Amino acid sequence: MKIYKAAIIGLGPSGLAVNKIIYGDNFNDIVAFENEEINKRDNFFGFWLTDWMKPYENIIEKKWYKWSIGDNNIDITHTCSDKPYCVISFKKWKNYCLETKNRLVIKKKKVVEYFPIQNFFKIITDDNSEYYAEKIYDSRSAKEKKGELLQHFYGINITVADDTFNENKLTLMHFTEEKNLLHFIYILPFSHNKALVESTVFSKMILEQSWYREKIVNYLSQKNIYKFKENSSEKGIIPMFFAEENNPPSPNIFNIGIRGGACKPSTGYAFSFLIKQIQLLKNSNKNYVNVHKFFERKMDKIFINFLKNNNENGRSFIKLASNLNGNEFQSFMMGQSNLITKLKIIQSMPKLPFIKELFQ
Ligand SMILES: Cc1cc2nc3c(=O)[nH]c(=O)nc-3n(C[C@H](O)[C@H](O)[C@H](O)COP(=O)(O)OP(=O)(O)OC[C@H]3O[C@@H](n4cnc5c(N)ncnc54)[C@H](O)[C@@H]3O)c2cc1C
Repeated sequence: MKIYKAAIIGLGPSGLAVNKIIYGDNFNDIVAFENEEINKRDNFFGFWLTDWMKPYENIIEKKWYKWSIGDNNIDITHTCSDKPYCVISFKKWKNYCLETKNRLVIKKKKVVEYFPIQNFFKIITDDNSEYYAEKIYDSRSAKEKKGELLQHFYGINITVADDTFNENKLTLMHFTEEKNLLHFIYILPFSHNKALVESTVFSKMILEQSWYREKIVNYLSQKNIYKFKENSSEKGIIPMFFAEENNPPSPNIFNIGIRGGACKPSTGYAFSFLIKQIQLLKNSNKNYVNVHKFFERKMDKIFINFLKNNNENGRSFIKLASNLNGNEFQSFMMGQSNLITKLKIIQSMPKLPFIKELFQ
């Protein structure tokens, strides 16, 4: 009976990070289970270049030192000289994380259950096979929950006529006027004629693909872009609720990624936080680490409740952006803001609804 040093359930970004960051430099036998075709997965993960992300600088696709937040009436531009907005593609992250010294075996199977026997775990897969491992890293997570907000999006990678895009400035959020929905367009201009253009909604219900496509086409036509070649697409759903599972009973079970609480629910940013989570787990003797500080979690909760109970059209985001400079804004997004920035953030929020949410 083979007992692996560790079993990784799910080879999304967090499962891959465990393979690289925790087990990459030794010669252990590791088993990973993934029931989807990860070689077909590709999308871009955005983040600001914090210190803990610097080790991955050479797999960054592109960096932007300027970004804008606005709507049809106002456009706030932020500049940040030392912590640019960056993207890494899933494909590059996967290849980087699979280049290790350890002996990783990948099983294209669904894990049905696992439970402790003696001082290790028995793992059962959907074909009734049994595997054994000393530790479990579990990244399965619920993407939806009744009555809770979701961030859902659909985007296309396009090629357009030369010199269409300003490749030095990304559009982080361009809000559009919708009935009872918060919607914005996100644009990553990779070059003067190539970009990812994404339509994103915060709501409880997912929409038909045609809805997001229409918003993208409308936005592009507003910018006089009528002709474009579609190269690929990406879509996703990110929970805007605290999707973390309870702390596991055994010290040798680790909930990782979104399941382990890495997502910042008010923004949907999770990639850099799940990497931080795995880095912290590597240097901890506990099976749980707090990636988001108490105050940040509290602010997130208040903000999400505000979004749930009010028809927000983007004005609060724009006001927040207009009260902060680029450095303060990125520090807030990455959970690194100082007291002065926190006070500025509180000051930017609509007072009455926030006081109401605070006492909920
Ligand atoms: C298209 C897209 C774009 C995103 N963009 C950004 C971004 O720009 N910036 C950012 O910070 N965040 C972004 N996110 C959010 C977040 O970073 C991702 O959701 C990320 O994939 C979370 O990683 P994870 O490892 O926690 O979970 P997942 O990526 O969901 O990985 C879990 C894996 O487990 C597998 N699995 C599930 N159940 C089983 C089972 N029973 N047995 C075996 N395998 C199983 C799944 O197939 C999956 O591959 C994006 C998300 C999506 C979907």
